[in-house]
Amino acid sequence: MKILVLNAGSSSQKSCVYEITGDTLPEEPLKPLWEAKIDWTHHQGFAEIEVKTDTGKQLQEEIPADSRPQVIAHMLDTLWSGSTQIISQPSEIDVVGHRVVHGGQEYRKSVVITEDVKKAIARLATLAPAHNPANLEGIEAISQHLGSVTQVAAFDTAFHSHLPDAAAIYPGPYEWVEQGIRRYGFHGISHQYCAARAARILGQDLASLRLMTCHLGNGCSLAAIKNGRSIDTTMGFTPLDGLMMGTRSGAVDPGILIHLMRQSDYSVEKLDHVLNRASGLRGISDVSNDMRQIREAISQGNSRAQLAWDIYVHRLRSYMGAMLATLGGLDALVFTAGVGENNPDIRAAACEAFGFLELKLDPEKNAHQPVDVDIATPDSAVRVLVIHTEEDWEIACECWRVLKQSC
Ligand code: ADP
Repeated sequence: MKILVLNAGSSSQKSCVYEITGDTLPEEPLKPLWEAKIDWTHHQGFAEIEVKTDTGKQLQEEIPADSRPQVIAHMLDTLWSGSTQIISQPSEIDVVGHRVVHGGQEYRKSVVITEDVKKAIARLATLAPAHNPANLEGIEAISQHLGSVTQVAAFDTAFHSHLPDAAAIYPGPYEWVEQGIRRYGFHGISHQYCAARAARILGQDLASLRLMTCHLGNGCSLAAIKNGRSIDTTMGFTPLDGLMMGTRSGAVDPGILIHLMRQSDYSVEKLDHVLNRASGLRGISDVSNDMRQIREAISQGNSRAQLAWDIYVHRLRSYMGAMLATLGGLDALVFTAGVGENNPDIRAAACEAFGFLELKLDPEKNAHQPVDVDIATPDSAVRVLVIHTEEDWEIACECWRVLKQSC
């Protein structure tokens, strides 16, 4: 089965093709046959397309970005023409999977995209204005260029859709519940992949494990996972809630927002910009949203970079404590995404606070670029794993599961 995955973000569009043969999903994630990335922010009026294949063919192009569907069509063309060609015609693609950021309360698992599903994704754009419209654009582009191929939506919210009401409902007026204002949670595809991968690495049944997955990238979220289900998470109604992030504040006292809105020059747009783009590591340090540059600035004695680090660690530890209480114990802690996978100091700082649980990190294993391994000492009461997240692979697996179920 050849599966094309489209993963649309607000500033980029990543795509890849996997081929799954046989009657069961492979135990290890496969390498894509073809990968492409469109960078919409490359420079004014132009998009940059980068394509590479598993045989080492590469392509880099800059094309006018007046029409996004045309740019996506151009990227798709490279699948069946030119030096990066991997198939001879579009009909060789069996299914196309899309990462759809918001599935609201309606979609608790991946589904085949129908007209009704498209309408729902469009309706839910009010909750994810930067993402759901881009997802729909990808779906339409595929319909135009690959005809009636089956398309599947894998929702970032789905993994958290069984949160108990006590974790999901904000303690505002009850009308909020009726208006759909509740904790949805995000990064669900990554948390789901990491939970299953953790169980495999540990050689245990996912249903028997209490896991905490820490997705620490530009966006950051934690999930408390029990019996294979997310029972609490730090992102909320939007991806702005919870941990301190690269440019996002995470949770702040809502009274601050009331205070700011009372100041005459504060508009909703400005507040949106401040909380989503000018806060977090960047806002506090004035150096960067990138953790590597924060570390670099700290080593040069930059006190605001140090403060950004300290707040990041403090918040990470306190939300880990919250997830721990929800889980009522912990079998394994999982670190993933850019910071979680690559920054041993963050892992060490986070774990240090949980020494009282007899959680013991092996400093050697932690320091040496661990990938999909346990970095706790043998006598640690909690396993600590570093897992390379594979969201696109998980979407491909979801497509495979949806198609097999419908056979
Ligand atoms: P996104 O949420 O945009 O997918 P990533 O998961 O790529 O982001 O995470 C970006 C963060 O990961 C940045 O803060 C960056 O500093 C950090 N990061 C990425 N690669 C490395 C690395 N090799 N070493 C240290 N930090 C890294």
